[in-house]
Amino acid sequence: MRLLLIEDDTMIGENIQDVLRGEGYAVDWAQDGRAGELALVHDVYDLVLLDLGLPKKDGIRVLQTYRANGGKNPVMILTARDSVMDRIGGLDAGADDYLVKPFDVKELAARVRALLRRSSGATQLIYRHRQLMLDPVSHEASHAQQVLNLAPREFALLHALIAEPQRVFSRAELEEKLYGWGDEIESNTIEVYIYGLRKKIGAGEILNVRGVGYRLAS
Ligand code: CA
Repeated sequence: MRLLLIEDDTMIGENIQDVLRGEGYAVDWAQDGRAGELALVHDVYDLVLLDLGLPKKDGIRVLQTYRANGGKNPVMILTARDSVMDRIGGLDAGADDYLVKPFDVKELAARVRALLRRSSGATQLIYRHRQLMLDPVSHEASHAQQVLNLAPREFALLHALIAEPQRVFSRAELEEKLYGWGDEIESNTIEVYIYGLRKKIGAGEILNVRGVGYRLAS
């Protein structure tokens, strides 16, 4: 899963980025409203974390532009503005959730999981598909009741696949979900992780749809 953080406060930004990377997300960080807006035009994010008081362009206007351009993915506002009118304004502009600073990063991580779950249409906390189980909270995954020992990016890859098990993901889509700006991506990197995952969960569990990409077996 790939997230965009739009936040101008360096300390808060670094803290959030560290925590969410620790949870296995790819996190890009834009430090002003204009940079955030550009990122939203050029890249696809599963979720956006948006500060309101931003240099160059106010967060509410960034959000309005994103929604006006057809952006559908969840947006969570993070801000010190905590009056009721600010909250209503943010939600009316198209935000899905609202967290008032200062907040506990554990709560932030939990709300991120909840929003991603809701946007993928999943209603349960734990993903199950055939013999596979993945728990984003405890970071555990198993196959046929056997606990899987997955590298962080293998876990992230399985998370992306199992969140939408019917969908075929192109290699580029999977790269976008696993990597942020500045991450080095080798040309065959997704194939390497697919290979690693297949060895752990069984080759037949991930289908290669020729010329299109990958999906879980149904
Ligand atoms: Ca700010």
